[in-house]
Amino acid sequence: MKLHNTLTGKVEPFIPLQEGEVRMYNCGPTVYKRQHLGNFRAFITADLLRRTLTYLGYRVTQIMNITDVGHLTEDDVADASGEDKLQKIAKERKLDPWEIAREQEQFFKDDLAALHIPPADEYPRATDHIPEMIAMIETLIEKGHAYEADGNVYFSVESFPGYGKLSGNTPDKLEAGAGGRVVADRDDKRSPHDFALWKRDPKHLMQWDSPWGKGFPGWHIECSAMSHKYLGETLDIHTGGPDNIFPHHECEIAQSESIFNKTFTRYWVHCGWLEIGGGKMSKSKGEMYTLPELFEMGYDGRDLRMFLTRQSYGGPLPFDLDLLDQAKAERGRFQNFVSYEMRERPEGPDNPAVGAAIDAARAAFRAALEDNINTAGAMAALHTFTTEINRIGPNRSEAENVIAFMRECDAVFGILDPDGARSLDEEIEQLIAERQAARDKKNWARSDEIRDELLARGIELLDTAQGVRWKKT
Ligand SMILES: [Zn+2]
Repeated sequence: MKLHNTLTGKVEPFIPLQEGEVRMYNCGPTVYKRQHLGNFRAFITADLLRRTLTYLGYRVTQIMNITDVGHLTEDDVADASGEDKLQKIAKERKLDPWEIAREQEQFFKDDLAALHIPPADEYPRATDHIPEMIAMIETLIEKGHAYEADGNVYFSVESFPGYGKLSGNTPDKLEAGAGGRVVADRDDKRSPHDFALWKRDPKHLMQWDSPWGKGFPGWHIECSAMSHKYLGETLDIHTGGPDNIFPHHECEIAQSESIFNKTFTRYWVHCGWLEIGGGKMSKSKGEMYTLPELFEMGYDGRDLRMFLTRQSYGGPLPFDLDLLDQAKAERGRFQNFVSYEMRERPEGPDNPAVGAAIDAARAAFRAALEDNINTAGAMAALHTFTTEINRIGPNRSEAENVIAFMRECDAVFGILDPDGARSLDEEIEQLIAERQAARDKKNWARSDEIRDELLARGIELLDTAQGVRWKKT
């Protein structure tokens, strides 16, 4: 197995600290508003990693945190300014931030379930780990990596020479690149790059007692504390979205390595951006669809999985509704293959070509996944396989082996509906009814569109005296 490691910028052989065991931490959501499809690219990547490692025989422990305090609106510039995202929304909605946090955490878990993402081993909440964070901050102060100023505690970036090794944002580069942006926003900070570990803010709605007075933790220390508690001093894999690389993950490294004097994370895995296409795709500038909005539009969780996994995780993934439709159709072809084409096959003589095709497809599928989770290659192997099998025409028992193999691969992708035959029947009947309604209204364009859509999926409509019938082509 090879993985791209953001730390080295290279694809490297994956060797976990303990043979056969993988300790993986995924940066989870900040629960202040509903996550959108772009956010889910990171969570699907974490899911793919876990499914792939499990498929390859590793035992995976997966921890994903819930950030329910401390993620500031200006955290992207690592300068500890800005307002708490959760608090800001709570004020706007005139609600208790705790209420919003629990509501959004539940929405997030609902969305994970709708995307067929099996639960992580734990979803620790930041607000349940304040004592662990305070202990870490105390150690950082003792070791000279942090200092208190007027009830705030800052990490001294200068005290950690490795700062910048993940993102390339070393203090001198930050200074050169930021123009006028890097200015000490607060006069109690020794350097503009220093970031907050603990913040004093008498107006903040969520407050805890600490050795430095009442306040709340910074976002970065949360993940250092929770990953340590559940997975230990060195993690095998730490994942996140591309926006987490800097400053969040850079700051996590600085904190954890300053405390434990050892490598924090061996493999940093980040997915690429989801890129919103032009005009009709984005609701408003920079905004993205939530899952309920996409479900409303007729896509289901498996269609979205297909869209998010058919391209490999590392590069940018363009998004528009046409591409989503393509993914839906592609998933439909795999579902058709398993639910119809391989169903009720005739008895007949055995053909060794079927077993050989399965062996070849399994080898290609596995090789692609072992190559930095090349899901595009793994999907291509399955397309080649289904075409080949349809050409051969397996007998009944061979078709059962073919289905079993497709289900084996689906342990990684999660795109096949086990109840697929029934739901496909229903879907086709629904489309036929919709076509009939279009014809009654003399909407020939829509009627033709539905016929073509079905034809593309291998379903031919026959207008008979008894009404519309359909058959597989
Ligand atoms: Zn994190």
